[in-house]
Amino acid sequence: MLSRELQAYLIILDETHTPVSLSRMTSLWTLSISFIAGACAGSFFYTLARRYAAGEIKENPWKALFSRSSCPSCKNPIPPLLLIPIIGYVITRGRCGHCAGKISIHYPLAEIAYGLLAALFCGKMGITVISTLLFLIACIALCIAMVDISSLFIPDSLVIAFTLFSIYPVILSGDIADHGLGILVMAAVFGLVLVIFPGSFGFGDVKFASAIGFFSGLEHSLVVLEVALISGALFGVAYAAVKKTGLRVKIPFAPFLSLGLIVSMLWGREILLIYFRMLL
Ligand SMILES: [Zn+2]
Repeated sequence: MLSRELQAYLIILDETHTPVSLSRMTSLWTLSISFIAGACAGSFFYTLARRYAAGEIKENPWKALFSRSSCPSCKNPIPPLLLIPIIGYVITRGRCGHCAGKISIHYPLAEIAYGLLAALFCGKMGITVISTLLFLIACIALCIAMVDISSLFIPDSLVIAFTLFSIYPVILSGDIADHGLGILVMAAVFGLVLVIFPGSFGFGDVKFASAIGFFSGLEHSLVVLEVALISGALFGVAYAAVKKTGLRVKIPFAPFLSLGLIVSMLWGREILLIYFRMLL
């Protein structure tokens, strides 16, 4: 890894001397690599989310985790070409090779979303062991969000996986008590809302929020809460207005928690700095 001084020096050199610098070409190259890797991760996690939503993981977890995807119409295994993220879908025009049945557009969309997310992580943190681990944690959170959207259910096994992947970054932070406070704040806020407005959240939301609190620590949990509650409330009001359902409608909340988590992972420090400057 480059030292901070060297990185700063490279940035100055980049801005002053070299029109198309080596560092810029390298960063474009690493961004492309991370996009492709992210799209592959998206293919895996979207398939996993669909299998969770369909209840396949409960029936046979190992088979559901590692078996090849099958066509929803004819149940034949998806041809290898379609397994290439995004490109496979474009070449086959989203049709099964056996029965010409339609494959959901959600597959390439999820792959693009994960690819862009990986590029964002790479642009912000570079490609390191820790940035890859943080990206995987974000991947699991997004997978939880996708299962919640399609089945209004948050699987315990995914929350456990999220927590296990969080242990190393938490130890690295060196302040485990702060992460304990993160759990307390998130559990308290969501537990309290659940007691005051029963049915507003599921118990799965409380568990997922607590796991995010463990990963994020106290200050970053506040950023997650802010983003999740504001985006969730705005969406809820807009949804109720469009569907004319009234405000007591139940919407999946894991997508907003995941959004808050990703915003806090990528820009939490900058957001907290703004708040500290306002307070001081
Ligand atoms: Zn088919």
